[in-house]
Amino acid sequence: MNVEEAVRYIDGRLSNELMSDNDREVLKFCRDVLSGRIHPRVGHWVKFKDEADYLFYRCDLCGKKEQYTSPFCPNCSAYMENYEDFLT
Ligand SMILES: [Zn+2]
Repeated sequence: MNVEEAVRYIDGRLSNELMSDNDREVLKFCRDVLSGRIHPRVGHWVKFKDEADYLFYRCDLCGKKEQYTSPFCPNCSAYMENYEDFLT
């Protein structure tokens, strides 16, 4: 499969009216990244401890803190390049 085929496939899937809004948003995002229409922002999780000594991770782009890391920041949607570093 190449990028053009993937974009065509996604466009075909988007015509499915039974798709949830979330699925549709994710597929549109993937299509737009693949086709070069948008360039996803790349961030990094930064590990830190708060005053009560609890472990958190902060997104270095939006600054929001999360209890767990994920491939995309749930606050600013950036792709988190180092998320695998913190998988246990
Ligand atoms: Zn963020």
